[in-house]
Amino acid sequence: MTGLRAILAIHDTTLGPAIGGVRMWQYEDEDSAIDDALNLSRTMTYKAAGAGLNFGGGQTVVIGDPKTSKSESLFRALGRFIDSLGGRYIAAEGVGTSFHDMDFIRMETRYVVGIPSARGGSGDPSPLCAEGVMGGLEACQVLLKNDATLRGLKVAVQGVGRVGSILVKSLVARGMLVTVADIDAETVERVSSESRVDVVPSDEIYDVDCDIFCPCALGGVLNDNTIGRLKCSVVAGAANNQLASDEDGDALHERGILYAPDYIINAGGLINVADEIYGYDAERARRKTSAIKDVLLKVLRAAQDKGIPTYKAADEFAEQRMEQVGRVRRSYVSG
Ligand code: NAD
Repeated sequence: MTGLRAILAIHDTTLGPAIGGVRMWQYEDEDSAIDDALNLSRTMTYKAAGAGLNFGGGQTVVIGDPKTSKSESLFRALGRFIDSLGGRYIAAEGVGTSFHDMDFIRMETRYVVGIPSARGGSGDPSPLCAEGVMGGLEACQVLLKNDATLRGLKVAVQGVGRVGSILVKSLVARGMLVTVADIDAETVERVSSESRVDVVPSDEIYDVDCDIFCPCALGGVLNDNTIGRLKCSVVAGAANNQLASDEDGDALHERGILYAPDYIINAGGLINVADEIYGYDAERARRKTSAIKDVLLKVLRAAQDKGIPTYKAADEFAEQRMEQVGRVRRSYVSG
């Protein structure tokens, strides 16, 4: 017995094999694990579709404490299960798992991505994720002011981990005035010693008077308790599943705050890891990531033209691509 308890959700394969992370977490019960897998797999479908990738969406959640319950046999058992799906699902690193865990999965299946760059793989996806977010910030300014300049704007960054810390360096380099918060004191210390930033306690980041609120920590941070506190014109950041519910996307729209849909602006990480399937090419991944700016602007403009919240416009954009490509794939081609 390996002790493996996992749920693997495949949400949609219209555009190609489902790709998505392996999350290891101590869920309260099996139902919460199933909910998480289903929600995350849907997000992956929309993210891949929005980014123009030929992948569908999937997600694995492993029930267990990532600090104490990991073992070679557990991940190899998961690898064997993934292999039995014959390529319908491709695994990648996620919250609570690392490339070491992916190495064990790889011993049992080739349907896994996320090889370290030293071994010719795509490596850490965070730099490209941050790069995509920078482009997204420009797109928001173009929509609001017809000018992509970021210099002089105030930005409040929630969470300065892998993506947030890289982003902060770029924001400061672009002449932005940056305030940061993180629940981890050491992380804040490191970031504030490397770049000129203001620091606020983590529960005060929502109250910072700024142009852009940039969530780079957890999901669900845009909710009943936080939206009313925001003093910004734009919400744009790397975190996944930022809206606690669709109603929170409506609330931002009603408050006149421009929300950059998370799965559009943070797709750089997925673009990077997915590129491994074709034989990783850093330049190609970077080129694809640079398109996020235009895609986001298109989505924001569509929302503006239709007078709908941006999260809805993003869903429509992704669904339209799936519908159109799906129709092509339904045609019979002889031979
Ligand atoms: P990370 O774990 O390296 O960093 C997250 C940081 O947020 C940590 O420093 C943590 O201490 C901090 N944090 C947690 N709760 C907080 C709170 N309440 N207030 C302030 N800070 C808090 O993660 P990451 O890889 O940088 O990812 C950040 C977000 O971006 C996540 O939502 C992730 O799903 C998403 N994302 C990451 C990538 C990527 O390539 N790494 C790609 C797409 C999306």
